[in-house]
Amino acid sequence: MRFVVANWKMNFLSGQARDFCEAFLAGYSPSPSVTAAVAPPFHLIRPVADSLRSRQVRVFGQNGHAEPNGAYTGEISMAQLQDVGCSGVILGHSERRQLFGETDDALVAKVKAARDWNLLPLLCVGETLEERQQGRTLEVLDRQLSILARTGPTPLWVAYEPVWAIGTGLRAEVGQIREAHAFIKSRIVTLMSLNFGPVPILYGGSITPENFPELLDIPEVAGGLVGGASLDPAKFATLVKQA
Ligand code: PEP
Repeated sequence: MRFVVANWKMNFLSGQARDFCEAFLAGYSPSPSVTAAVAPPFHLIRPVADSLRSRQVRVFGQNGHAEPNGAYTGEISMAQLQDVGCSGVILGHSERRQLFGETDDALVAKVKAARDWNLLPLLCVGETLEERQQGRTLEVLDRQLSILARTGPTPLWVAYEPVWAIGTGLRAEVGQIREAHAFIKSRIVTLMSLNFGPVPILYGGSITPENFPELLDIPEVAGGLVGGASLDPAKFATLVKQA
């Protein structure tokens, strides 16, 4: 099984999302061996879920709060994500970590809350350029994954997203991806005893239809988390087809 997830970030108004869904569905045919998902901004979750559900495309949140409700102005809970049609949620994206101060501690509670509300967490991990240059990539991945020792076993997808490859047009090299993915897999096996079956490990960072086939050839890569290219319906449909 391969996985392709679109992260729309803070893009699209209603009409643009409607146009995207129409154009994407025109070029997309569901396949039993590929799971496709779209993570729209909050105000578009319901219409996108309504439009894509009948074609087995899943809808994810881009973030969720650990508490089910309460005085958390500007936040959305896992319960609310589930209520509007999400079946999963991206957690720990580097933009959340870097721009909004999301910590590993906060992610423990978020992963548990996602599990409680039957949302599949897509946990993002990855090193900055500075950390890579300092030879600390595996140490950083280890720290980010160690939250799984505190969440307990849970169904999970993981995305390896080197921060320096996100939105930059710089793609990690095959050897770098293989090393990171193999390390992530070995840590997950240890931390979670794989009670819930194998955890797919996606790559993310400047994926395009031009480079995705080479990435999919890497045995450790189960698919992609796509930002920029996922805003173009024809490109996203091509990526899903390639998977
Ligand atoms: C992302 O934001 O998760 C991402 C991978 O972005 P891009 O594809 O634009 O690098």
